Amino acid sequence: GSTVGILGGGQLGRMLAMAAARLGYKAHIYEPGAAPAADVAAARTMAAYDNTDALRAFAASCDVVTFEFENIPASALDHLARDAALYPDRRALEVSQDRLAEKTFLTDLGLRTAPFAPVGTAADLPDALAVTGTPAILKTRRFGYDGKGQARIATPDQAEEAVAILNGAPAIVEGFVAFSREISVIAARGLDGSIAAYDPGENVHQDGILATTTVPAAIPSSLKTDAILIASRILNALEYTGVLGVELFVTPQGLVVNEIAPRVHNSGHWTQAGCAVDQFEQHIRAITGWPLGDGARHANVVMENLIGDQIDEGLRLAAQPGTQIHLYGKAETRPGRKMGHVNRVTGPA
Ligand code: ATP
Ligand code: MG
Ligand code: MG
Repeated sequence: GSTVGILGGGQLGRMLAMAAARLGYKAHIYEPGAAPAADVAAARTMAAYDNTDALRAFAASCDVVTFEFENIPASALDHLARDAALYPDRRALEVSQDRLAEKTFLTDLGLRTAPFAPVGTAADLPDALAVTGTPAILKTRRFGYDGKGQARIATPDQAEEAVAILNGAPAIVEGFVAFSREISVIAARGLDGSIAAYDPGENVHQDGILATTTVPAAIPSSLKTDAILIASRILNALEYTGVLGVELFVTPQGLVVNEIAPRVHNSGHWTQAGCAVDQFEQHIRAITGWPLGDGARHANVVMENLIGDQIDEGLRLAAQPGTQIHLYGKAETRPGRKMGHVNRVTGPA
């Protein structure tokens, strides 16, 4: 096949399209939003994924279809899968687009997560908090990203206030994990079942949004191995094809899985400057049946997101030695919006 279809016209879809082009493929992007960006309002995007005719026509123009975000109705994937190969598959999407399904899947695999309980209505909250304890975090089950749709509950008397942010959406409450660091593993599984994982990166968030990823992570190598084994376990359990991101908390008791993303991941952007084959090429290789590429890390890298006005500072950062800049071409700069990123090589690996 020679045409790769990508659902979603945000920066991840754009970088996937560039990787596909480099491997000699054509890229088609399905983006029903008027202003393509990863933060297209979920509601508007979902409505367009109800258009069966448009989905089928898109799939018919592609050999393989993939996606850059997980807020796609699972039924849309079934329409697409009639006319094109689809990777990752429906199950991977379903498990990762709903925090309750995700946490249940992870704990069923024997992996550690924060204690959690579903919250259908405000009335469920006292029992749920009895499971998780406080402090806790209330999160909508679906559509959350960059910390949106979340409220902290320091003490049980703050529960009512927290529930207000939900607007009736189904939610889960999670016990607060006292972590020392946050890391993530970006890993890929090929069509033949082979697995390649990148070195875990260390992530710092500001206001719920990823600010920087640093490799190497300042953690013992045993934890890096654990992290990669966790990612492999998830990939195999899902019989997954493509790149997957796994976010983890480092605690004194070991690693706790925060969430998984069935796609290339912001915390994997450092691979563009640190590896022969970056996460975007790796994903295209995986879904088109190529052998997975060499993801060994040859450099130490700091990836800095350019959020909102930081895009102006990015131009100054880009003048530094060893610095790569990626701008997403978004028409409008808004607070909290990811506008680009820089990868700074800080030394040899
Ligand atoms: P993303 O943009 O990564 O998809 P998201 O909106 O899905 O983010 P989470 O990853 O669930 O949100 O949470 C955002 C951040 O909030 C985490 O990276 C972590 O710093 C903090 N956080 C989330 N859940 C917990 C928890 N149970 N205990 C402690 N901190 C947490
Ligand atoms: Mg998330
Ligand atoms: Mg997250």
